[in-house]
Amino acid sequence: MKIDSLRTLLEEELKDIYSAEKQLLKALPKMAKKATSPELKGALQEHLEVTKRQVERLEDVFESLGKPAKAKTCKAMQGLVEEATEIMEEDAEDAVMDAGIIAAAQKVEHYEIASYGTVRTWARLVGADEAAELLQETLDEESDADERLTQLAESVVNPQADSGGDGNGSTRSKKSSAKKSGGSKKTGGSKSRR
Ligand code: FE
Ligand code: ZN
Ligand code: FE
Repeated sequence: MKIDSLRTLLEEELKDIYSAEKQLLKALPKMAKKATSPELKGALQEHLEVTKRQVERLEDVFESLGKPAKAKTCKAMQGLVEEATEIMEEDAEDAVMDAGIIAAAQKVEHYEIASYGTVRTWARLVGADEAAELLQETLDEESDADERLTQLAESVVNPQADSGGDGNGSTRSKKSSAKKSGGSKKTGGSKSRR
């Protein structure tokens, strides 16, 4: 099809996000089930409930644009969900598995943050104010979810994973390699401390 305007591009991107959210309705329960830490389990289950409302909110966005709610397979989310599944099929200590699940979940949240930030901005530009407001609400929820996962990783899950899950502390080499791996400022556990 010819994408002849920013508004058409916005509508196409909304179909992608609608698909992405629907894929998450299936993936999040599996991730919550596989998680061991009660806090992580709870965070994922709660985000599933939030995600259900986000799907409905997207339907409101489509309605506000006078368009039927349609999904177009989001291949990026398919890939992210596939990677999450791969991790969950591995054999790992509980806390290490939890760390892997958080990593997968944060990749998902960051993808959503990028997508919602973009469509929010486009909606504002084309004067779709109601859509822009709804999309901003969801963007805020995705950011909250991401921050909660970082908190969990740093306070509970990663330290446990680093000590082999037995609370006996880590070796020096493990600690220093973990410290070196900081790239992003606010992702799960790769935050660099000074
Ligand atoms: Fe979402
Ligand atoms: Zn996509
Ligand atoms: Fe999300």
